[in-house]
Amino acid sequence: MLLKKLFNFFADKYFHRVFQNFIKQHAGKSIFIFDIDNTIAHTYPSLLNQYNSEAERHLSLQVFPSMQQLTSAIERSPSRCVLFLTARSYKMYRPTLQWLQQNGFPAAKQNVVVVPDAKTKLRYIESVLPLQPKLWLIDDMSYHHEHGEVKFYDNEIRLLLKMPLRYIGYQTIRRFQNKIK
Ligand SMILES: [Mg+2]
Repeated sequence: MLLKKLFNFFADKYFHRVFQNFIKQHAGKSIFIFDIDNTIAHTYPSLLNQYNSEAERHLSLQVFPSMQQLTSAIERSPSRCVLFLTARSYKMYRPTLQWLQQNGFPAAKQNVVVVPDAKTKLRYIESVLPLQPKLWLIDDMSYHHEHGEVKFYDNEIRLLLKMPLRYIGYQTIRRFQNKIK
């Protein structure tokens, strides 16, 4: 238990540093922060299936091709860049990076950040706002799809809408993803 707390403490420090460094190093560019689950990956159906491990489930997630194309196009633009910010278990960091790279997303150690929950995403974003970065956040901020009813992280969405960034949420993401139901 103590060891887990210690591990989580250092993992949070590490990923917060990765996040802040990326923002600092790309000052002047528009930075597009992409969520993974149910934004670029068709995640929720996988929660109803059986897998040998969580890593196997993550590695087998279906991609929304339009989202893969969008991230690649942004990355090719000299004035824009992409960062992936996902709320997943820290243990899924390696499978997450592997999945992104295998599916053609512009992902490396420098631009993949794992946090334990949606609240921490906001904490990281808030911490870089004094740098006045040009931020976009593309994040469905939803959950519970696999139970037939979509729920939202209402508190986080309310706070995001007050922040100096452009927030692209569930409705717009769904319209863009519509190739795969
Ligand atoms: Mg999501």
